[in-house]
Amino acid sequence: MLIVMHHQASSRDIEKVKKTIIAMGLRPVAIPGAERTAIGVVGNQGWVDDMPLRDIHGIKEIIHVTKPYKLVSRDFHFPNTIVRIDKNTNVGERRPFLIIAGPCAIESREQAMKTALFLKKLGIPVMRGGAFKPRTSPHSFQGLREEGLDILSEVRERTGISTVTEVMSPEHISIAAEKVDMLQIGARNMQNFDLLKEAGRTKKPVILKRGLSATIEEWLASAEYILLEGNPNVILCERGIRTFETLTRNTADLSVIPLVKSISHLPVIFDPSHATGKRTLVPVMSLASIVAGAHGIMIEIHPDPDHALSDGPQSLHFNEFAKLRKHMKDMEIFVKKL
Ligand code: PEP
Ligand code: MN
Repeated sequence: MLIVMHHQASSRDIEKVKKTIIAMGLRPVAIPGAERTAIGVVGNQGWVDDMPLRDIHGIKEIIHVTKPYKLVSRDFHFPNTIVRIDKNTNVGERRPFLIIAGPCAIESREQAMKTALFLKKLGIPVMRGGAFKPRTSPHSFQGLREEGLDILSEVRERTGISTVTEVMSPEHISIAAEKVDMLQIGARNMQNFDLLKEAGRTKKPVILKRGLSATIEEWLASAEYILLEGNPNVILCERGIRTFETLTRNTADLSVIPLVKSISHLPVIFDPSHATGKRTLVPVMSLASIVAGAHGIMIEIHPDPDHALSDGPQSLHFNEFAKLRKHMKDMEIFVKKL
């Protein structure tokens, strides 16, 4: 429910609305605006009887929100959210396009450090690298787990680069939060609700990937779980969805980016690696995502993709990434002029 106040409503009227909401066993969320104040109501699990509010002075309109998400929507919070990753790095509207790159999985100290030093040379602020890997087959490489987290922590210490890694279960969150700067919730876990809630109890930035067959509303409802627990630092990541197509790993739908930006205030980034599954398609789709309005990108790169333990075919060689980095800079300048 959303309560829109008249612009002449007094602070006493607003306080009365808030107190009434609390007395109804619900939680008021103030939504200040330049023109008017609105008060969002969260905590209800279904229809709310608005009778106790109807006669309060200063209320212009009571809107019943039927969507499965509120806090992530622009109805409840209009301004663009900017997520701070480290003291020099932010992501969101009118912030520099965020580039995150790195291997699918952390395979060794040497592989991770080589990648981090390369990224540092290019000025890339965040390195990705999976320690806990969600693999389709239990016979595939499952990640170095805690050892992988230690390597990521060493990467940060030695290079100053920020890091992001995937968490697959609620127990991973506290151990990963100590060792990395951002958490990633992968496509397969987009609706792991206990995991989402636990991620909501940290203040770490969380990259929430769209599920393999999730609708946009299901994806936003998952983000809502994180915000509702008190963590506003969510970055949505489109990584392609499962369709009937078999020539690409997933179907990359870039129209999702402007659409989600119109509904939600959260930053939206794109993962061209999982979206296509093919190294040859990654550069052009990366550039296209800048045109579509993405706030950033997460790309898989590897010092030796042919021998990568996971996702080699979609990982760029270092030289390919360096070339793409240059083209992305040009594209950013071009798009700003549009
Ligand atoms: C990954 O980023 O390595 C990954 C497993 O991604 P997704 O969850 O999008 O499949
Ligand atoms: Mn991968």
